[in-house]
Amino acid sequence: MKISNIKIIDDHVNSISCSGDSDSGNHPQIFLKLNSEDGTVECYYCGKTFIKKSVFDKK
Ligand SMILES: [Zn+2]
Repeated sequence: MKISNIKIIDDHVNSISCSGDSDSGNHPQIFLKLNSEDGTVECYYCGKTFIKKSVFDKK
């Protein structure tokens, strides 16, 4: 997993929006809900993985 494709988010955040970035390319803005079990979600447009800080620190 490329570290540049991971975005750490705050623990209290339960949904995020993604519209891509200059590295992976822009895409229409979408909203994603974090998986309540593992605290992560992957954007199906650009493949960026959002992960809660507490979950990331454990890995
Ligand atoms: Zn995206």
